[in-house]
Amino acid sequence: MTAGRPDGRTAESHRIAVIAGDGIGPEVIEAAIPVLDRAANTHGFSCAWERLPYSADHYLKTGETLPDTAFQHVQNDVDAIFLGALGDPRVPGNEHARDILLGLRFRLDLYINFRPVTLLHPDLTPLRQAVGPSGRPAIDFVIFRENTEGLYLGRGRTSGDEYIAEDVNTGTGVERIIRAAFEWARAHGTTRVTMSDKSNAVPAHRIWQEKFQAVAAAYPGIDAEHRYVDALAMELVRDPGRFQVIVTNNLYGDILSDLGAGLVGGLGLAASANLHPGRAGLFEPVHGSAPRIAGKGIANPMAAVLTGALMFEQLGHAEAARDLERAVRETIAAGVRTPDIGGTATTAEAGRAVGDAL
Ligand code: ATP
Repeated sequence: MTAGRPDGRTAESHRIAVIAGDGIGPEVIEAAIPVLDRAANTHGFSCAWERLPYSADHYLKTGETLPDTAFQHVQNDVDAIFLGALGDPRVPGNEHARDILLGLRFRLDLYINFRPVTLLHPDLTPLRQAVGPSGRPAIDFVIFRENTEGLYLGRGRTSGDEYIAEDVNTGTGVERIIRAAFEWARAHGTTRVTMSDKSNAVPAHRIWQEKFQAVAAAYPGIDAEHRYVDALAMELVRDPGRFQVIVTNNLYGDILSDLGAGLVGGLGLAASANLHPGRAGLFEPVHGSAPRIAGKGIANPMAAVLTGALMFEQLGHAEAARDLERAVRETIAAGVRTPDIGGTATTAEAGRAVGDAL
């Protein structure tokens, strides 16, 4: 989308739906938006933020989770969706969160959940030695989590004493997420893709082995390796530097990305994107609504800022994205940190500092 500027040139403008959500969601989103505006401005584009009310509050007041008209709107009319967090103790079944978050992921068929794990400052890792046997010092890898299948599809039944959840793996679904991981690896010059499953214990995971071998054959320059998820969890702690791209199913991706976040400073810094190439993506910090710290003004807004950076990259503004990451690194290095990463700054102070570092 383009809009006229006073100087007669046209500046690109992106229409972005904002679902700030619950708990710390609105706090981190409102701290991040001015920072993102500043980065956009510097790089010659703008964002039209369209705030949507869907949240636990809205659900409790109206009984509405995500109405169909709103779904159609975000499906057809916006360039991206920026989401804070969903989850509220007043809605113990979390039905609004399921409808909104899982509804968007599934109905928009956002099959790629992309989660980078990058150590932004050496003192953020709890590892005594971040350099493992491979000798690669940096913790810098990305997780491609399958986002539309697996146990999260919610198929199953309860029968007497049995609670059955079905782990759905289709050849099409598995192949497309594996291909996305290799495509990203090739585009970013990385040399290794690690696929993780539990095919030694779960026969349905054999499809992951089959598809991985078939897809890997088309990328001869990339080292394609496999790890069972239990072994990978251990190796990620022992030698995280050796990993570059990890591709795995919905459940293992969820767990491994929290492990990854723990290696590089915690949930306050972890960003994610839900993608389907060619469609509007859904961008959300990995963290939840953290009700215990909500309303205190101490939530870390950096995960939301870094999520905005992923959104800008996806919208074609890679330089603005790099600039945002640089500003976050500099802010952390300067010691302006919220309590979760060892500082005393408030959400607003941390957000302002990142904006100033731009
Ligand atoms: P969900 O299941 O929805 O992901 P959860 O309650 O399991 O939610 P989070 O809400 O992500 O997990 O948070 C877990 C804890 O991590 C919080 O209680 C809080 O201490 C910390 N945390 C998460 N996000 C942040 C943040 N942005 N800033 C500071 N601390 C955070």
